[in-house]
Amino acid sequence: MTEIKRVGVLGSGLMGSGIAQVAAGAGYDTVVRDVSPQIWDRARGAIEKSLAKFVEKGKLGAADRDATLKRLRFTTTTAELATCDIVVEAVTEDLELKNTLFRELDGLCGPATIFASNTSSLTIAAMAAATKRGDRFVGLHFFNPVPLMPLVEVVRTVTTSEETFRRALAFATSLGKKPVAAKDTSGFIVNLLLVPYLLDAVRAVERGVGSVPDIDQAMQLGCGYPMGPLTLLDFVGIDTTYKIAEIMFTEYREQRYAPPPLLRRMVLAGLNGRKSGKGFYDYAVDPPRVVDLGV
Ligand code: NAD
Repeated sequence: MTEIKRVGVLGSGLMGSGIAQVAAGAGYDTVVRDVSPQIWDRARGAIEKSLAKFVEKGKLGAADRDATLKRLRFTTTTAELATCDIVVEAVTEDLELKNTLFRELDGLCGPATIFASNTSSLTIAAMAAATKRGDRFVGLHFFNPVPLMPLVEVVRTVTTSEETFRRALAFATSLGKKPVAAKDTSGFIVNLLLVPYLLDAVRAVERGVGSVPDIDQAMQLGCGYPMGPLTLLDFVGIDTTYKIAEIMFTEYREQRYAPPPLLRRMVLAGLNGRKSGKGFYDYAVDPPRVVDLGV
């Protein structure tokens, strides 16, 4: 089996940029594909900012920061990922989009390349089936923000070979992460439990159980969580959470996964959370201010 030296990342949004940062930081030549140079510029800026914080805190030397940035390359051409030993997909949570890219890559990459998806809620089997490398297909579910969160769920689907699963676990460990094995069920371990909680917090806002900051503070101070659920939703992305809820609801047909109407209104209004500047809170000001959602 070829040793993993070159890593491809599809998508340079919140997750893709973080995955690219940790891969380059771990010494892998990393090539990232997104749809436009404007989007890479944002991703590169986010990576530079994150690395600068590590340097400031004395957790990373300036030379290592420079070496990490040197190992990162951005492209709009999928063919540039052809020589990668592993490709981690982190594009928008949309099965058709993901499968279009996987199909294209399947024809470009050599037989040894492992494909991994960072999906939050789609089944890995539904993507593996779009390729001819079901045995070399795995889920690698990272957490946001990737450079700080230690967990990676490594997901083995029905076709994943033992060898691919073992290599994916070793790859996650080589990035400095703690892998856990999860089955290929929608939401894996963390989102199966976390998503209903987040959706219940939105329902609590809809019902006027408490104000946005009071719901957040209640869960922080009452349960010892590092942040409240509505702040966490802004971090994850309102649009991403909406898509995840839709997919999990379709899979399980259980009310607790149904996206609340307020979430959909927020997506329609472009209130997608931190990445768009506004969600439950407005991030143009420091500290962020509560957005009046008219509920
Ligand atoms: P995001 O909206 O921040 O980024 C998605 C990126 O995909 C964008 O930069 C977009 O331009 C890019 N993209 C769209 N079409 C593309 C194409 N054809 N080729 C290349 N790039 C393309 O979303 P995100 O939060 O980074 O989520 C990405 C994936 O990671 C989703 O599957 C999501 O479910 C999963 N995920 C998200 C989180 C989270 O907290 N946000 C956590 C774990 C997993």
